[in-house]
Amino acid sequence: MPSLSVSFEFFPPKTPAGQEKLLLVRDELAATNPEFFSVTYGAGGSTQDGTLQTVLALRESGIDTAPHMSCIGASRAELRNQLQGYKDKGIRRIVALRGDLPSGMGRGGELRYANELVEFIRQEFGQDFIIEVAAYPEAHPQAANLDEDIKNFVRKCQAGADSAITQYFFNADAYFYFVDRVRAAGIEIPIIPGIMPITNYTKLARFSDACGAELPRWIRKQLESYGDDSESIVKFGEEVISNLCQQLIDGGAPSLHFYTLNQAKASLAVVNNLRK
Ligand code: FAD
Repeated sequence: MPSLSVSFEFFPPKTPAGQEKLLLVRDELAATNPEFFSVTYGAGGSTQDGTLQTVLALRESGIDTAPHMSCIGASRAELRNQLQGYKDKGIRRIVALRGDLPSGMGRGGELRYANELVEFIRQEFGQDFIIEVAAYPEAHPQAANLDEDIKNFVRKCQAGADSAITQYFFNADAYFYFVDRVRAAGIEIPIIPGIMPITNYTKLARFSDACGAELPRWIRKQLESYGDDSESIVKFGEEVISNLCQQLIDGGAPSLHFYTLNQAKASLAVVNNLRK
């Protein structure tokens, strides 16, 4: 599918070497002509300035770049200032999240959930921003059940989200079921699958535990069997993720959003396979 639409997510680098690498990765991924880049944000304030600096650095490639922002722990005044700052810098797309506070920081903040943040952005800034929200085909880890989570997702859409990006998953049926349920509730916005390339078993297992994404037994077993043979892990990962993406596109996914972890190679390999 030569015209396949993609986007890429980065995090703010923490070291000068990471910063230097970011620019190389940016240029490699910009060459695929993505729809947009996005940059994660540490709820609780750890990387707020890092997010902005990274957005500005990525944007120099000419690709529209969206900061993620979260409302948990923040006041309305703080959120308004942050959004005004983004608007003044010509930022036109936001990934709007509730976020998670680091443990021990309590809850705080004036807005409790992402639907309230979306509503706030629309009230204060009208249509100045394209708003992306998060979706969880396997249910958000804190959700009582999938039905409740879908209802809450629908609230975010009704509050004015333009598009959604999913948590990563390895089971295409979860995505198709989620999209069907959301469409049945009358929501028509694009729901873009979030794609996590597989390059390292230990890190993948840790991330998946933390965010509640299911790492299927057959993938886990196969990755375990490779031990520290990273070449085999990368080769297997490329095959699994390319197949998953092909299934998603064949089933109607509008675009793919890659969690790059600031690495170009694995995402590029998959995009190149799909665009053949
Ligand atoms: P919400 O949509 O507010 O949902 C959170 C929970 O509350 C869910 O269980 C939901 O069912 C429930 N809920 C929602 N609305 C209501 C309501 N009105 N009443 C009752 N219950 C409700 N985290 C970061 O810290 N930084 C990032 O940059 C970041 N980027 C992300 C990007 C994507 C694409 C995704 C999928 C996740 C990202 N996250 C990020 C993780 C995210 O912050 C966490 O998953 C967080 O716990 C939930 O954020 P949310 O916006 O999905 O929350």
